[in-house]
Amino acid sequence: MKIQKISHKSLAETAAGKLAASLLDGTLEQGGQLPPERELINILGISRATLREALKSLEDHRLIESRRHVGWFARKIDETNITQAKELAGDATSQAPRSATNEPHTGPRRIPVSPEKPIHIPNLQKDRLGTFEFISWWEREKVQKAKVLVIGAGALGNEVIKNLALMGVGNIFVIDFDKIEAANLSRSVLFRETDNNRSKAEVVAARAKSINPEVHIQYLNADVTTGLGLGVFRRMDAIIGCLDNREARLAVNRFCYWMNKPWVDGAIQELLGLMRVFKPGEGACYECTLTEQALRDLSLRYSCQLLARQNVLLGKVPTTPTIASIIGGMQSQEALKLIHDMTVEPGKVVHFNGLTNMMHTTAYVPREECESHWAYGEITELPARAERTTLQDLLRIAHSDLGAQAVIELDQELITSLECANCHTVEQVLRPLSEITFEAGHCPTCGLLRDAQFTHQITGDENFLHRTLSSVGVPPLHILRAQNGLEYRFYELTGDLPEALHFRHFENNAPEKTQPIAERIRLKSEVHSIDSSTSSVRSRIRIKEDSPKSPAAVKPASGQIKLKQNKIDTVKPKKVSEPTSTRIRYKSIERSNGLISKFGRGRVKVCKL
Ligand SMILES: [Zn+2]
Ligand SMILES: [Zn+2]
Repeated sequence: MKIQKISHKSLAETAAGKLAASLLDGTLEQGGQLPPERELINILGISRATLREALKSLEDHRLIESRRHVGWFARKIDETNITQAKELAGDATSQAPRSATNEPHTGPRRIPVSPEKPIHIPNLQKDRLGTFEFISWWEREKVQKAKVLVIGAGALGNEVIKNLALMGVGNIFVIDFDKIEAANLSRSVLFRETDNNRSKAEVVAARAKSINPEVHIQYLNADVTTGLGLGVFRRMDAIIGCLDNREARLAVNRFCYWMNKPWVDGAIQELLGLMRVFKPGEGACYECTLTEQALRDLSLRYSCQLLARQNVLLGKVPTTPTIASIIGGMQSQEALKLIHDMTVEPGKVVHFNGLTNMMHTTAYVPREECESHWAYGEITELPARAERTTLQDLLRIAHSDLGAQAVIELDQELITSLECANCHTVEQVLRPLSEITFEAGHCPTCGLLRDAQFTHQITGDENFLHRTLSSVGVPPLHILRAQNGLEYRFYELTGDLPEALHFRHFENNAPEKTQPIAERIRLKSEVHSIDSSTSSVRSRIRIKEDSPKSPAAVKPASGQIKLKQNKIDTVKPKKVSEPTSTRIRYKSIERSNGLISKFGRGRVKVCKL
């Protein structure tokens, strides 16, 4: 008598059992020919190798026989084989077949499926993500709901975007300021010759949508160091840096730390590449990896900053599409792990040397005094927009929260004037540093590089408080800092949310770039009603967190916000009435990011990038 196996059946055994059961119940005709292999593979949902193993087992049990060049035939069930047939069939009829198209029948076993993951047999003919169902840890819902920010749409960005689209990552945001040129075509799978001079971000987004129309995508033509609101970072599950310069990496690193988000960095040159994950509070960050000299080089004076920006635009690193695939592939995989809350190794770097095919991992040492290690505290969501809100508006809110001492800290330097020491001329400028080119920094008369006056603090004494936030370089959906020397407050321009973060480009319901003024006003005044019974002594407006599509979740104003006409913005001559409040009340949102906010402890931090 055979010894009963205790271990659970292999896939081939299960398949053999099902076929034996079909023989017994007459589904398969005794003496008749079995359906062709391809059909059996589909019926049983198994691979060819597994099917062959199952057929071999049935043959060994004298239940089927092979006729050369014809196929498999079922034997007659009689006393010689009925016991074996029943033994094989077991309870196969009542069991759902465990299938795995791509699973080899030898090699490592699958990790047992987590109890939460429901057993789901995908339709591989209709379900593009069906194969992933066989990956024990893959969770469709997490992947489809995931929000991933891809910074840079060059060689690495192309690979990463392609992978994210293939993997069905539900919401992708891509940012790049560059345009496509012929030389990009050798390393960028998503670009075509006809794309010359088109925006990289737009083209990769469009191609991702055509690879997988089920993903939601949004693109932005902007420089990540100045053009992307922190509120976008705040709503992401993972951030992937596909960058080619230190300045941008440092900026992304700080933004991710401020918002307590993990980010995956990749870098390539010729056949060399590296990949690393940074996670606030776990191991070293990107800035920790920089040498003192590198940090000194980065904290440049304004003239150098102008030049540095220029050089970034010119700097080209030779890369190959192959190394981009390798490193971009690793980055995408790490992002997939982050989406699933799987273990990653933050603060470590994986080096790949394509010349020797050597790969090694090393851990960076975190630096105690690293300037990146700051996290924002609780964030107040204001129904305000960068284009409509003035410095005065924001200052008023800060004053009501932090007292008359409160100042606003801008994230980038604001150039107020350019002075030529040679000609003794002064040009009033008032533009963010990012908008001044190296050429523009020079005197138009004598050509000397002019001295610049700049500021990043708004104290209330300025003569340009009527200027809108966007005119001084604040991007939509940004989060601004105010402080009074003791305490920080963080204000998000949540009124920008519907336009700044929607993931609906290339969809029928993509939001228009410019909305009717009336609608803007309506959106702005949509403020959650104040429930005086809630928490703090000062009643505040509570704006619901998250959900890019849900400005509607914010209820209409309860009349506690006083609207008044605002002055016309002198810089952007748009005649629009703007509702502001003499005293906006709001309720702040509790954030549980697990990090202690150093910003909230009164340490003044100047952020110069
Ligand atoms: Zn650090
Ligand atoms: Zn001059």
